Amino acid sequence: MSEDICSLCKRGHIVYVREYSGERLCPRCFIRTFERRVARTIARYGMLRHDDRIAVAVSGGKDSLALLKVLFKIESRFPMSILVAVTVDEGIPVYRDEAVEHAREFVNKLGIEWVCVRFKDVFGIDLHEVVDSKEFELSGLQPCTVCGMLRRRALEVAAKDAGATVIATAHTLDDVVQTYMMNLMRGDLGRQPFGVRAESGGFLPRVAPFKLTPEREVVMYAYLNGVPFQSHICPYARTSMRDMIRRFLCEYEDRYPGTLFTMLRSFEKLTVSSEVELRACVRCGTLTARRVCRACEVLQMLGIDALQTCKD
Ligand code: SF4
Ligand code: ZN
Ligand code: ZN
Repeated sequence: MSEDICSLCKRGHIVYVREYSGERLCPRCFIRTFERRVARTIARYGMLRHDDRIAVAVSGGKDSLALLKVLFKIESRFPMSILVAVTVDEGIPVYRDEAVEHAREFVNKLGIEWVCVRFKDVFGIDLHEVVDSKEFELSGLQPCTVCGMLRRRALEVAAKDAGATVIATAHTLDDVVQTYMMNLMRGDLGRQPFGVRAESGGFLPRVAPFKLTPEREVVMYAYLNGVPFQSHICPYARTSMRDMIRRFLCEYEDRYPGTLFTMLRSFEKLTVSSEVELRACVRCGTLTARRVCRACEVLQMLGIDALQTCKD
């Protein structure tokens, strides 16, 4: 048998090798197995219900557009479920402008409802204005920390306005393991597995249908489905702790395929077994181990009125 032939159908020419399983896949078999894994992830963790109104977080990057595409296919089997694409525009000139345009075109092509909300509308300030402010300079925060916190809030506000019952994000296996590592380094691993449906403190549940899918497979799926790729990178990307961890994990996974899956399993055993009492944040009501949740703390440091933005 030729080395170039797909190990599943024994016909197509291979475009992708799954190092951790040894599968060598043609485009058709790759797409089929990719979509099957996402559907199984959703079922395994009970992420979605048949009549959900699903707010898909669509930044306009390849991962989020790939998520929209795969959910569009999977949810077509559930006539009572509805997809709404929600884009948060942080106000990062050039980089996010291009992504928002990609989101708009892709969503239009699929004929899905689209909501776009800007930091400026929700918080009265864009990310680049925050980063240029005196408060930010004094805070010692990183742009990605602020961006992540505010994006989470803005997404919640927009998804609720759109009548969503759940939020789906495009966090991949790589993202989830990176998040666990960052939490570990901060001394708080969290109390529930990432991206698994859990109702908390009046906030919409968030699910991550790609949590068992490696980033490079999402990239391949995006490519095979004609998803547009961005030509600009975020000017703040290289400043993040996540970026350091990402590079370390990528190198490790290249050398020892399957490491990310092993790490995910180990982290999830630890999160499930920890028992810290949670209470409502005194400012926004989110369940937290602290008096004021981290998001409210960051907003306070930057002089942004958290109460205005996070209550119903
Ligand atoms: Fe936001 Fe950081 Fe991502 Fe840029 S790289 S969009 S600042 S989280
Ligand atoms: Zn095949
Ligand atoms: Zn709070």
